[in-house]
Amino acid sequence: MPANILIVEDEADLALLLRYNLEAEGFVVQSAEDGEEATERLRETTPDLILLDWMLPGLSGIELCRRWRAREETARVPIIMLTARGEEEERVRGLATGADDYMVKPFSLPELVARVNALLRRSSPQLVTTVMKAGDLELDRTAHRVRRAGREVHLGPTEYRLLEYLMRHPGRVYSREQLLDGVWGNDVYVDERTVDVHVGRLRKAINRGRSPDPIRTVRGAGYAFDEHFATAA
Ligand code: CA
Repeated sequence: MPANILIVEDEADLALLLRYNLEAEGFVVQSAEDGEEATERLRETTPDLILLDWMLPGLSGIELCRRWRAREETARVPIIMLTARGEEEERVRGLATGADDYMVKPFSLPELVARVNALLRRSSPQLVTTVMKAGDLELDRTAHRVRRAGREVHLGPTEYRLLEYLMRHPGRVYSREQLLDGVWGNDVYVDERTVDVHVGRLRKAINRGRSPDPIRTVRGAGYAFDEHFATAA
Protein backbone atom coordinates (compact mmCIF):
# COMPACT_ATOMS: atom_id res chain seq x y z
CA MET A 1 0.00 0.00 0.00
CA PRO A 2 1.49 3.36 -0.95
CA ALA A 3 1.97 5.98 1.75
CA ASN A 4 -0.54 8.79 1.91
CA ILE A 5 0.78 12.34 2.12
CA LEU A 6 -1.14 15.50 2.94
CA ILE A 7 0.26 18.78 1.58
CA VAL A 8 -0.90 21.94 3.32
CA GLU A 9 0.34 24.82 1.21
CA ASP A 10 -1.39 27.97 -0.03
CA GLU A 11 1.05 28.67 -2.87
CA ALA A 12 -0.72 26.84 -5.69
CA ASP A 13 2.39 26.47 -7.89
CA LEU A 14 4.44 24.92 -5.11
CA ALA A 15 1.58 22.66 -4.03
CA LEU A 16 1.26 21.39 -7.60
CA LEU A 17 5.00 20.84 -7.97
CA LEU A 18 5.10 18.90 -4.71
CA ARG A 19 2.10 16.82 -5.71
CA TYR A 20 3.58 16.01 -9.09
CA ASN A 21 6.92 14.92 -7.63
CA LEU A 22 5.46 12.89 -4.78
CA GLU A 23 2.99 11.15 -7.07
CA ALA A 24 5.89 10.28 -9.36
CA GLU A 25 7.44 8.57 -6.32
CA GLY A 26 4.31 6.47 -5.97
CA PHE A 27 2.75 8.31 -3.04
CA VAL A 28 -0.95 9.04 -2.78
CA VAL A 29 -1.22 12.81 -2.37
CA GLN A 30 -3.94 15.04 -1.00
CA SER A 31 -3.66 18.77 -0.67
CA ALA A 32 -5.24 21.59 1.27
CA GLU A 33 -4.81 25.36 0.92
CA ASP A 34 -5.30 26.26 4.55
CA GLY A 35 -5.92 24.90 8.02
CA GLU A 36 -9.65 24.65 7.54
CA GLU A 37 -9.37 22.52 4.44
CA ALA A 38 -6.61 20.45 6.05
CA THR A 39 -8.85 19.75 9.03
CA GLU A 40 -11.54 18.51 6.63
CA ARG A 41 -9.05 16.16 4.95
CA LEU A 42 -7.92 14.88 8.33
CA ARG A 43 -11.49 14.08 9.23
CA GLU A 44 -11.73 11.83 6.19
CA THR A 45 -8.39 10.08 6.53
CA THR A 46 -5.22 10.14 8.60
CA PRO A 47 -2.21 10.56 6.33
CA ASP A 48 1.14 8.83 6.85
CA LEU A 49 2.97 12.15 6.63
CA ILE A 50 2.12 15.86 6.45
CA LEU A 51 4.00 18.60 4.59
CA LEU A 52 2.98 21.77 6.34
CA ASP A 53 3.62 25.33 5.21
CA TRP A 54 4.42 27.74 8.01
CA MET A 55 2.80 30.89 6.59
CA LEU A 56 -0.81 30.09 5.78
CA PRO A 57 -3.90 32.28 5.59
CA GLY A 58 -5.83 31.90 8.85
CA LEU A 59 -4.18 29.55 11.31
CA SER A 60 -0.41 29.35 10.91
CA GLY A 61 1.43 26.10 10.31
CA ILE A 62 2.86 26.34 13.81
CA GLU A 63 -0.59 26.55 15.35
CA LEU A 64 -1.89 23.67 13.23
CA CYS A 65 1.12 21.57 14.16
CA ARG A 66 0.47 22.23 17.85
CA ARG A 67 -3.21 21.26 17.49
CA TRP A 68 -2.52 18.09 15.52
CA ARG A 69 0.07 16.99 18.03
CA ALA A 70 -2.58 17.29 20.73
CA ARG A 71 -5.09 15.10 18.86
CA GLU A 72 -4.76 11.40 19.32
CA GLU A 73 -5.30 10.54 15.61
CA THR A 74 -2.56 12.85 14.40
CA ALA A 75 -0.22 12.91 17.40
CA ARG A 76 2.31 10.59 15.78
CA VAL A 77 1.99 11.55 12.11
CA PRO A 78 5.38 12.84 10.91
CA ILE A 79 5.26 16.52 9.98
CA ILE A 80 7.75 18.36 7.79
CA MET A 81 7.46 22.15 8.07
CA LEU A 82 8.02 24.17 4.90
CA THR A 83 9.03 27.74 5.36
CA ALA A 84 10.71 30.73 3.86
CA ARG A 85 12.19 31.63 7.19
CA GLY A 86 15.66 30.33 7.78
CA GLU A 87 16.68 31.76 11.09
CA GLU A 88 17.91 29.33 13.67
CA GLU A 89 15.46 30.69 16.23
CA GLU A 90 12.48 30.00 13.98
CA ARG A 91 13.78 26.57 13.17
CA VAL A 92 14.01 25.71 16.84
CA ARG A 93 10.49 27.06 17.39
CA GLY A 94 9.16 24.88 14.57
CA LEU A 95 10.76 21.76 15.95
CA ALA A 96 9.69 22.62 19.50
CA THR A 97 6.06 22.68 18.33
CA GLY A 98 6.39 19.06 17.35
CA ALA A 99 7.47 19.13 13.70
CA ASP A 100 9.80 16.24 12.84
CA ASP A 101 11.76 18.06 10.19
CA TYR A 102 12.04 21.44 8.62
CA MET A 103 12.80 22.63 5.10
CA VAL A 104 13.60 26.17 4.06
CA LYS A 105 12.23 27.41 0.73
CA PRO A 106 13.45 27.20 -1.92
CA PHE A 107 14.43 23.61 -1.27
CA SER A 108 15.63 20.88 -3.57
CA LEU A 109 12.93 18.35 -4.48
CA PRO A 110 15.25 15.32 -4.36
CA GLU A 111 16.21 16.35 -0.84
CA LEU A 112 12.58 16.73 0.20
CA VAL A 113 11.76 13.29 -1.22
CA ALA A 114 14.77 11.82 0.61
CA ARG A 115 13.57 13.32 3.91
CA VAL A 116 10.01 12.13 3.34
CA ASN A 117 11.33 8.62 2.77
CA ALA A 118 13.62 8.81 5.79
CA LEU A 119 10.74 9.85 8.08
CA LEU A 120 8.43 7.19 6.66
CA ARG A 121 11.06 4.51 7.11
CA ARG A 122 11.04 5.31 10.82
CA SER A 123 7.31 5.79 11.28
CA SER A 124 5.84 3.28 8.80
CA PRO A 125 8.61 0.96 7.59
CA GLN A 126 6.06 -1.32 5.90
CA LEU A 127 5.11 1.51 3.51
CA VAL A 128 8.55 2.15 2.16
CA THR A 129 9.98 -0.23 -0.38
CA THR A 130 13.53 -0.75 0.65
CA VAL A 131 14.72 -3.22 -1.96
CA MET A 132 14.02 -2.77 -5.65
CA LYS A 133 14.68 -5.75 -7.91
CA ALA A 134 14.77 -6.16 -11.65
CA GLY A 135 16.25 -9.26 -13.23
CA ASP A 136 19.55 -9.99 -11.51
CA LEU A 137 19.89 -6.38 -10.39
CA GLU A 138 19.04 -5.42 -6.83
CA LEU A 139 19.08 -1.98 -5.21
CA ASP A 140 18.74 -1.66 -1.45
CA ARG A 141 17.57 1.86 -0.58
CA THR A 142 18.20 1.46 3.13
CA ALA A 143 21.76 0.23 2.86
CA HIS A 144 22.45 2.19 -0.36
CA ARG A 145 23.82 -0.97 -1.92
CA VAL A 146 23.57 -2.38 -5.41
CA ARG A 147 24.10 -6.00 -6.37
CA ARG A 148 24.18 -7.67 -9.72
CA ALA A 149 23.84 -11.46 -9.84
CA GLY A 150 24.56 -11.45 -6.10
CA ARG A 151 27.80 -9.50 -6.44
CA GLU A 152 28.22 -6.11 -4.90
CA VAL A 153 28.51 -3.24 -7.40
CA HIS A 154 30.33 -0.12 -6.26
CA LEU A 155 28.74 3.09 -7.53
CA GLY A 156 29.54 6.73 -6.97
CA PRO A 157 26.77 8.75 -5.25
CA THR A 158 25.52 10.27 -8.51
CA GLU A 159 25.45 6.92 -10.33
CA TYR A 160 23.57 5.41 -7.38
CA ARG A 161 20.94 8.16 -7.42
CA LEU A 162 20.65 7.91 -11.18
CA LEU A 163 20.04 4.15 -11.05
CA GLU A 164 17.57 4.49 -8.18
CA TYR A 165 15.69 7.19 -10.07
CA LEU A 166 15.47 5.18 -13.27
CA MET A 167 14.50 1.96 -11.45
CA ARG A 168 11.56 3.60 -9.69
CA HIS A 169 9.65 3.73 -12.95
CA PRO A 170 10.85 0.96 -15.22
CA GLY A 171 10.09 1.62 -18.86
CA ARG A 172 9.53 5.32 -18.40
CA VAL A 173 11.70 7.45 -20.68
CA TYR A 174 13.35 10.44 -19.03
CA SER A 175 14.82 13.33 -20.96
CA ARG A 176 18.26 14.58 -19.90
CA GLU A 177 16.58 17.66 -18.48
CA GLN A 178 14.20 15.57 -16.34
CA LEU A 179 17.11 13.51 -15.08
CA LEU A 180 19.01 16.65 -14.17
CA ASP A 181 16.02 17.95 -12.18
CA GLY A 182 15.30 14.63 -10.52
CA VAL A 183 18.81 13.44 -9.76
CA TRP A 184 20.91 16.58 -9.48
CA GLY A 185 18.17 18.93 -8.30
CA ASN A 186 16.74 21.81 -10.30
CA ASP A 187 18.72 24.47 -8.46
CA VAL A 188 22.01 23.10 -9.72
CA TYR A 189 23.44 24.14 -13.03
CA VAL A 190 24.86 21.14 -14.83
CA ASP A 191 25.30 20.69 -18.56
CA GLU A 192 23.03 18.05 -20.12
CA ARG A 193 26.07 16.16 -21.38
CA THR A 194 26.91 15.47 -17.75
CA VAL A 195 23.97 13.06 -17.76
CA ASP A 196 25.58 11.08 -20.59
CA VAL A 197 28.87 10.93 -18.71
CA HIS A 198 27.23 9.53 -15.58
CA VAL A 199 25.04 7.10 -17.52
CA GLY A 200 28.27 5.86 -19.12
CA ARG A 201 29.87 5.34 -15.71
CA LEU A 202 26.77 3.64 -14.38
CA ARG A 203 26.72 1.23 -17.32
CA LYS A 204 30.38 0.45 -16.90
CA ALA A 205 29.86 -0.37 -13.24
CA ILE A 206 26.76 -2.54 -13.53
CA ASN A 207 27.46 -4.32 -16.81
CA ARG A 208 30.21 -6.85 -16.53
CA GLY A 209 31.26 -9.07 -19.37
CA ARG A 210 28.28 -10.04 -21.50
CA SER A 211 25.56 -9.17 -19.00
CA PRO A 212 22.66 -7.36 -20.70
CA ASP A 213 22.42 -3.59 -20.29
CA PRO A 214 19.37 -2.52 -18.24
CA ILE A 215 19.74 1.11 -19.29
CA ARG A 216 18.12 1.88 -22.59
CA THR A 217 19.16 4.89 -24.67
CA VAL A 218 16.15 6.31 -26.46
CA ARG A 219 17.33 8.30 -29.44
CA GLY A 220 16.31 11.93 -29.36
CA ALA A 221 14.48 11.39 -26.07
CA GLY A 222 16.72 10.27 -23.24
CA TYR A 223 17.11 7.19 -21.06
CA ALA A 224 14.95 4.52 -19.50
CA PHE A 225 15.38 1.55 -17.25
CA ASP A 226 14.45 -1.48 -19.33
CA GLU A 227 12.32 -3.75 -17.13
CA HIS A 228 12.71 -6.62 -19.62
CA PHE A 229 16.48 -6.43 -19.91
CA ALA A 230 17.03 -9.78 -18.22
CA THR A 231 14.84 -11.65 -20.70
CA ALA A 232 15.95 -9.72 -23.78
CA ALA A 233 19.39 -11.27 -23.81
CA1 CA B 1 2.48 30.18 2.43
